[in-house]
Amino acid sequence: MAVHAHPDDESSKGAATTAKYVAEGVDVLVVTCTGGERGSVLNPKMDRPDVWANIADIRRAEMDAARAILGIEQAWLGFVDSGLPEGDPLPPLPEGCFALQDVAEAAGPLVRLMREFRPHVVTTYDEEGGYPHPDHIMTHKISIEAFDAAGDAERYPELGEPWQPLKLYYDIVFSKGKILVLHEALLAAGFESPYGEWLTRWEGRTDKGPRITTRVGCAEYFPVRDDALRAHATQIDPDGFWFQVPMEVQQRAWPTEDFQLVRSLVDSPLPESDLFAGIAEPGVPR
Ligand SMILES: [Zn+2]
Repeated sequence: MAVHAHPDDESSKGAATTAKYVAEGVDVLVVTCTGGERGSVLNPKMDRPDVWANIADIRRAEMDAARAILGIEQAWLGFVDSGLPEGDPLPPLPEGCFALQDVAEAAGPLVRLMREFRPHVVTTYDEEGGYPHPDHIMTHKISIEAFDAAGDAERYPELGEPWQPLKLYYDIVFSKGKILVLHEALLAAGFESPYGEWLTRWEGRTDKGPRITTRVGCAEYFPVRDDALRAHATQIDPDGFWFQVPMEVQQRAWPTEDFQLVRSLVDSPLPESDLFAGIAEPGVPR
């Protein structure tokens, strides 16, 4: 089970890992907490009045396309996007939005899904949300709450039979090491690097690299990830930053997606290369 804040996050964070496990026969359920109603249109070619007029429907259709590309099951929790507040001082969050919900209450639907789907492994964002969007931070909070409560018969007793997932991970999408390696690989191959400016701005930012416990080799699924991303046409500019790095360089320089193991009820020595390490399943050769 991969818990995400908005439609498109499942395609930009851990998507190649998802596609790899689906190809290996694992059932993957993506949980999308909000409808992405307050997202911007980030692709200039889609920034049109007819798109803005139907943005909620369009984002649902985009999610349907990405779901088919990744081969996943997907469920909406039905919360309303909080939007990314901008300005100084920051404006208050809109009434009724996901980030303003009570954590224990908002975790309920996720507890129910965990008890129905019965995942062995759950992925979510770290305590900073991976990046500081209020919905990403809220996604983190309800994931922790649900992971810790789903197996406890005394918590949320009305939401189904207890089920305890065995491992909980945070997506570590960017680390300084990864940016640096990609930057140098691009320059060495004679390409321009979109990462140079990023690296010079790194000063003072925390590097999540040391938190990585688990590197999942999934380079052959990077093209599937990119197809899924492009399916979110309002959110991704196909001529933009994400697609400037040649596939061959990405696959050679950093062939993994990276995670931090934060809860484990099984014995799995670190570092590891498989989210299911230590989990024995009859008939599954792991
Ligand atoms: Zn998001």
